[in-house]
Amino acid sequence: MTVLTNVLELKNYINGEWRSAASGDISVVINPANQEVIAHAPRSSKEETEEAISVAREAFESGIWSGKTTHERAAILNAIADKIEERAEELTILETMDNGKRKAEAVFDIADAATCFRYYAGIILHPDGETYQVPDNVQAIVVKEPVGVAGLIVPWNFPLLMSVWKIAPALAAGNTIVYKPAEVTPVTAMKLFEIMEEVGVPKGVANMVLGRGSIVGQTIAESKDVDVVSFTGSTEVGREIMRAAAGNLKKISLELGGKSPNIIFADADFEIAVDYGLFGIFYGAGQVCSSGSRILVEESIYDEYVKRYVERANKIKVGPGLEEGNDVGAIVSEAQLNSILKYIEIGKEEGATLAAGGYRLTENGLDKGFFIKPTVFTDVTNDMSIVREEIFGPVVTIQKFSTEEEAIRLANDSDFGLAGGVFSNDGAKALRVIKKIRAGITWINDYHPTYVEAPWGGYKQSGIGRSLGKYGIEDFQEIKQINTRLNVEPVGWFPS
Ligand code: NAD
Repeated sequence: MTVLTNVLELKNYINGEWRSAASGDISVVINPANQEVIAHAPRSSKEETEEAISVAREAFESGIWSGKTTHERAAILNAIADKIEERAEELTILETMDNGKRKAEAVFDIADAATCFRYYAGIILHPDGETYQVPDNVQAIVVKEPVGVAGLIVPWNFPLLMSVWKIAPALAAGNTIVYKPAEVTPVTAMKLFEIMEEVGVPKGVANMVLGRGSIVGQTIAESKDVDVVSFTGSTEVGREIMRAAAGNLKKISLELGGKSPNIIFADADFEIAVDYGLFGIFYGAGQVCSSGSRILVEESIYDEYVKRYVERANKIKVGPGLEEGNDVGAIVSEAQLNSILKYIEIGKEEGATLAAGGYRLTENGLDKGFFIKPTVFTDVTNDMSIVREEIFGPVVTIQKFSTEEEAIRLANDSDFGLAGGVFSNDGAKALRVIKKIRAGITWINDYHPTYVEAPWGGYKQSGIGRSLGKYGIEDFQEIKQINTRLNVEPVGWFPS
């Protein structure tokens, strides 16, 4: 399917109008598999962002969206899902071109995006709220209301899916939105806004502003007219968002970085544990927040595990995501490529043993894009930067442990707490260990699958709040108690 014959001219979507940046300033969006230009995107100003926020504010105050019945809102969300499914092939190809991932990964992302809209369309049709028998012949009821204007800021690793994890619940709950994609991956976002326009999301309800994090993102995070900011990205920027949000004490939800442990016990099925050890880190070229980037292996199988792991890592075929037969795609940008290569150098300097990969791939035309050979470090210790810091690339460390307690201690010795895995055929032990792991997303004899029904988010410096599931809509809801006195009579507290 040819989906791109020309360079796409992306625009902001504000108050139902498609607009370029007033300054004419643009950024060039490239395909990281070959550095071909695929789009031009506006670099919007603070004023343009503020305008989008005030449009969203007005739309919220008008009740044009929150005043719709849940059936009406659900019908629109389901219509968005239908259109995503109709245009799945086009969206998949664009996502692959924009992000560099393997096409098969984008297929899942687009399908999951449609499912997420359907899920939140369903959730708002369920009975909601509570009632209490309180004293004094008063009936207390609890209702959920939209927070107001939601600012949504997302990263580049799952451009459409991370956006939908926020847009679907925010709209389902009746908020209006101002959304900003990552500068390097804005393409499918524009397609989603085209879809929202087509299915009749009212003007002013969903607004998109493209541009830099330090300008557009910062303005959203600071604005007194934004009631909640939902951010997915690095822990470093998460901290800035928190500071910026303090001005009007807006609600915040932060989905941040990780450095997740994947614990392999000797009693696990060996080949399966190797398989998932590879899948846990090299899926998405390691540019996945929940990647199992620290593999911990029980001493008695350590040497055999490393040998087999390296053998299989070396067989992974890296290349353009749209070409059949490649297992792992490109790194999203040159900046990210250089950051990963720098960590590889640091790992070597710190004294770790480079057991596989460790370099940029340049043969067979790969020099046109940004590709890194799957990289494995052994002989690492928990004080090394490559074990402590999120590299966000195809780089894994493999460590040895001798007891269950040591595995848990090493796993939890991290500032992050996003995800973790345990492989063992002793069900009780696996459950015992996973319950000790200080992380929000965990797997036993599995790694990576994510379901819209289950909450997603981290402990420690991996974030605040939860996306997905019934929890994912709570960031976008206020909770109100309404007390109604059933016998209307004077309170009698003061003399009449
Ligand atoms: P990033 O933090 O650099 O950027 C994320 C978004 O924030 C982008 O849209 C960016 O433009 C914007 N931004 C940058 N500076 C800003 C500022 N000062 N104010 C407001 N917005 C600003 O992250 P990235 O490099 O795009 O993505 C990779 C990171 O995202 C990794 O750390 C990864 O772990 C994390 N991530 C987390 C999850 C999760 O669910 N926990 C999911 C995906 C990615």
